[in-house]
Amino acid sequence: MGDERPPESPDGAVVKFPVLLVMLGAPGAGKGTQAREIANWLCVPHISTGEMLRDAVERGTVTGKRVRAIMESGALVPDDLVCTIVEQRLSQPDCERGFILDGFPRSVHQALFLDGLLKSTHRGSVRVVNIRVDRDSVLKRLTGRRMCPKCGAIYNIYFNPPRRDSVCDLDGSSLVQRGDDTEEAVGTRLREYERQTKPLIERYRHMGALRAVDGNADPKTVREAIVRVLKAS
Ligand code: AMP
Ligand code: ZN
Repeated sequence: MGDERPPESPDGAVVKFPVLLVMLGAPGAGKGTQAREIANWLCVPHISTGEMLRDAVERGTVTGKRVRAIMESGALVPDDLVCTIVEQRLSQPDCERGFILDGFPRSVHQALFLDGLLKSTHRGSVRVVNIRVDRDSVLKRLTGRRMCPKCGAIYNIYFNPPRRDSVCDLDGSSLVQRGDDTEEAVGTRLREYERQTKPLIERYRHMGALRAVDGNADPKTVREAIVRVLKAS
């Protein structure tokens, strides 16, 4: 706790630990891609509630059965359920040096829950990166997205296609489209974002925790911007 770990980047600045980072942004803003890479770089867990819920659906757990249809429609699953999942995950020992939250909190209720949880466990407060992306590119990013079911690599048929059509470059698995990346579900997800998640931007700005980065740039440029934010705060 509170230690500083030398960065692996050449410019010599350091990132303060623990890193309690929340990735905010519309669906398709690149939260998942960025969170995964930054988490790898810092050796802290990447915690994606969407991935955890998809995993529950695939395994057919009680939770999975409860949320399957909701997720396919693009709506948000109930706050209490997601909060319980996050509480359990953040209590794991690998979160001691911090974590990157991707897709949580997504409502004011969830943000209040997270504040309370971090306070009660004496963990300090979060830093929040808001990845801003134009609405037009969000649509292409989501409907063009394809994922590797084996290694989790993410491609896009418009912007970042795999070398061979529909096949993962890394392990040769057949790529899949998420059920909620269809046009109809994407419409619902964007409406849910506007209604439930967007108010968090103002909230975190007010708390002085928010930093915005331009998510329209290529992934490497966005990552560098996030790293700068982490080193500066
Ligand atoms: P994501 O992978 O983050 O885009 O999440 C996929 C879907 O999982 C969302 O459209 C919601 O149905 C559900 N989900 C993920 N995170 C949350 C959350 N924090 N609150 C409610 N629903 C969530
Ligand atoms: Zn793969």
